[in-house]
Amino acid sequence: MPELPEVETVSLGLQKRALGRRILAVEIRHPSVIVGSPEQFTAGLEGRTIVSVQRKGKVLALELEAENGPPRYLLVRLGMTGQFTVLARETPLEPHTHVLLALGDREELRFRDVRRFGRLRCCTREEMQAAFDRLGPDAQQVTEEQFVSAMRARRGAIKSWLMNQQLLAGLGNIYADESLFVAGIHPLVQPGRISARKAGRLFRAVRKVLDHAVKLQGTSFRDYVDIEGRPGNYEPRLRVYQRTGKPCRRCGRPIRRMVIAGRSSHFCPKCQPRPREVARRRGLPH
Ligand SMILES: [Zn+2]
Repeated sequence: MPELPEVETVSLGLQKRALGRRILAVEIRHPSVIVGSPEQFTAGLEGRTIVSVQRKGKVLALELEAENGPPRYLLVRLGMTGQFTVLARETPLEPHTHVLLALGDREELRFRDVRRFGRLRCCTREEMQAAFDRLGPDAQQVTEEQFVSAMRARRGAIKSWLMNQQLLAGLGNIYADESLFVAGIHPLVQPGRISARKAGRLFRAVRKVLDHAVKLQGTSFRDYVDIEGRPGNYEPRLRVYQRTGKPCRRCGRPIRRMVIAGRSSHFCPKCQPRPREVARRRGLPH
């Protein structure tokens, strides 16, 4: 599933390839990826120019300006397998291409999504703002103070806290696992029980992991590609995610996997020791 670095890569690609361009025509091949009526979606986009691309967490908003009238926004959630590519109009359609936006008469912005969990919505500035306001601070923009204070008195597992989009927007399974490894924190620790010093370490780990992954255009699991159709380059850098049984890059111990709130978590049992309170809660020997 695309997380912040992949969505940021798509955002940078859209800024490069789609900014300042006018949407001449809209073709919807599979209306289930559109929120609201396909007719309204088409009417809201056609003839408008893409004047900015904004991102908060994993959500994108393309600002669409018309010659008269207020701007509209194309709100994009890539879901699990959503892809945006800019291609010449004569390029053969790949299967699962659901929406085509003609940019000028030579190129198209195509939305493809195998699993169809992605969503495109045409909305007003207020609706776009409301969608952004429902999210916590962006994981690349959040300050250390906001981050640390949001952890106070929180129960549950730190892994789930990191992935809760209403508290912190942008992290999913991959970068939550990677950040916890870098910070040396076990995924089951309660956020409220993490010391200020360790919370600061986790804040810096999140920032470092995300910045590095953005530089390498993200990680390609499932179908993620950038706007030119290229996969990301972060996968060889992964330290724990989907490396179950492989040696830890720091200490050599095999990486372990456990299920937390229905999602796989990957961690090193030596570099991310399980604190006593976790062992007590789960009734496990230390
Ligand atoms: Zn280790």
